[in-house]
Amino acid sequence: MDFLAGKTPKDLEQWLLSVGENEDYAVPLLTGFYRKKIRDIMEVKELPLALRHKMKAAFTDGYYEPSHVEVSVDGSRKYLFSAGGKGFIESVYLPEKARHTLCVSTQAGCRMGCAFCCTGQMGFRGNLSEREILNQILSVPESNQLNRIVFMGMGEPFDNCEALFRVLSILTSSWGLAFGNEKITVSTVGILPCILRFLNETKCHLALSVHSPFPEERKKWIPAENKYPLKETILAISREKVNRHRRITAEYVMMAGINDSREHLEGLIHLFHGTVFRINLIPFNSFEGSKIHPSEASAMQYFMKKLNAAGISATIRRSRGTDISAACGQLGNSVMLVRKPGLQ
Ligand code: SF4
Repeated sequence: MDFLAGKTPKDLEQWLLSVGENEDYAVPLLTGFYRKKIRDIMEVKELPLALRHKMKAAFTDGYYEPSHVEVSVDGSRKYLFSAGGKGFIESVYLPEKARHTLCVSTQAGCRMGCAFCCTGQMGFRGNLSEREILNQILSVPESNQLNRIVFMGMGEPFDNCEALFRVLSILTSSWGLAFGNEKITVSTVGILPCILRFLNETKCHLALSVHSPFPEERKKWIPAENKYPLKETILAISREKVNRHRRITAEYVMMAGINDSREHLEGLIHLFHGTVFRINLIPFNSFEGSKIHPSEASAMQYFMKKLNAAGISATIRRSRGTDISAACGQLGNSVMLVRKPGLQ
């Protein structure tokens, strides 16, 4: 039995032809499945009855429920999903006034090894399939309310490039979930070839993890700097014709006494002045075993004021769900604890 979740029209056209059916049924079938959220194929009335029976024998929807949920005092919720032999992964629902955001994982663990990130300390357990990525969006209880998707959960999305691009296509196509491109953000440490493909093939927003303007220091925090130097990445992105409706953000996690000095501020201004980037300042979120502390609120305000004064749009991002280890850089705690009583 195969799964429908994760399929594109091309996949189904091949299957339809292989069973002697008209390939034109692929689009109405997927429109019913994704957009109208009809999980039982027998209910997709646009298809002939005989074909529905054939499909029912060959496919199931492929969705499955989260195995655990933790609720924060601020209303955010962290969901734990099984990823088969790869262990468990997490997704975070973040409600805020009219915004209903889901932070989605693309890998079980991560092989980027960023020093400030809990997921990076877990090691890598495997890429998630299109089905496992989509399932997070379609199986959280708040699925119908979601109006923002951010690929900022566990894993480096561009290290699972093919699955990511297929999911983006399913999310944004009229035969898929018809989600607005401007409602989707993909976050990366800077895998340049995939960034360029992303800028050419999609219209979604991009967030680039910066965390230090100095290459030698950044290498310590983000080892990907060795292969994809930040400066080259910024130049390459700046050379692309970026539509003004598309948001390109530099994410800067602020760590007390580490990257919040005057030199760091000047380095950021030097790097981003005159580029398409805006800057998001994020307080560091501690996790078990971490000796780093977030920068003082006054230091973050100072950075924001000076960046804005230098003509670089900068904002401070509030951390959500820190009490349930659901904030930026904290995902993975429950995954590591998953075998403890009470979590399954
Ligand atoms: S910050 Fe992102 S890319 Fe770096 S280790 Fe964590 S999950 Fe991976």
